[in-house]
Amino acid sequence: MATRKAFLVDTTICTACRSCQVACKNWNELGVEPTTNRGSYENPMDLSPTCYTKIKFVEREKSGSLNWLFLKQQCLHCGEAACMKVCPAPGALYRNAHGAVVFNPEKCTGCKYCITACPFDIPRYNAATNKISKCHLCYDRIENNLIPACAKACPTGAIKYGARETLIQQAKSDGKANIYGEKDLDGLGCMFILKDAPSAYGLPDVPKIKAGTSFYKDFVEPLWNFGAPAAIIALFLHYITFGAKRTDNASEGGTAND
Ligand code: SF4
Ligand code: SF4
Ligand code: SF4
Repeated sequence: MATRKAFLVDTTICTACRSCQVACKNWNELGVEPTTNRGSYENPMDLSPTCYTKIKFVEREKSGSLNWLFLKQQCLHCGEAACMKVCPAPGALYRNAHGAVVFNPEKCTGCKYCITACPFDIPRYNAATNKISKCHLCYDRIENNLIPACAKACPTGAIKYGARETLIQQAKSDGKANIYGEKDLDGLGCMFILKDAPSAYGLPDVPKIKAGTSFYKDFVEPLWNFGAPAAIIALFLHYITFGAKRTDNASEGGTAND
């Protein structure tokens, strides 16, 4: 694998301008969606099959005034990716040479296992196409030596993209030692510098794979892979040893009316 690339999003300097949201829509040619005013500046309120990234607004009262936290929601490109662990369709979710978790709609069967497994509630299902979708870390731009569209559009420099280790070292030398996702799940491909506890943003304090997620890939699939050929061989050996199963009537030379 080439050097693992990542995002480091510094939420302390994000102004919630949402240029990243718009740039992602533009680059990926994702359609607009009707939204409604629900009394918040947050818009849209959720990720969707046509919204791979959005700024989440956490609006709260602190010392008698409105206090905001902003979080760029998108796929976190986990080093240990639950979505990949459960996906039964080979090639539908794969890790590319730069460490991003990319989806291939051609191979996706729409089973939605990845949606259930993701600890960050990221993939979204499109019933019209029977496919999932999510951020792919702009693999198509990276392959053409362009940085991801959202990072390019960010006017404050809150979204840093580059070699993962370099981003971590730079943040630490800038005194930003507490990096969300530095080590969890084998390191996230989208890390954050947060102003408050992860739970204040709706992030798991300690992200981990949900219990049972690995069961299919770690136990069922290997057993099936081992068990299916073994069963076929056993059936074949039984057949050549004992022949085809015969009914009692047939073996006794009787008829149905005997
Ligand atoms: S955030 Fe969810 S969808 Fe993205 S790589 Fe991790 S498990 Fe997969
Ligand atoms: S990396 Fe690309 S696909 Fe992912 S959120 Fe940014 S612009 Fe969208
Ligand atoms: S473009 Fe940058 S500053 Fe604007 S909302 Fe996105 S991350 Fe925040």
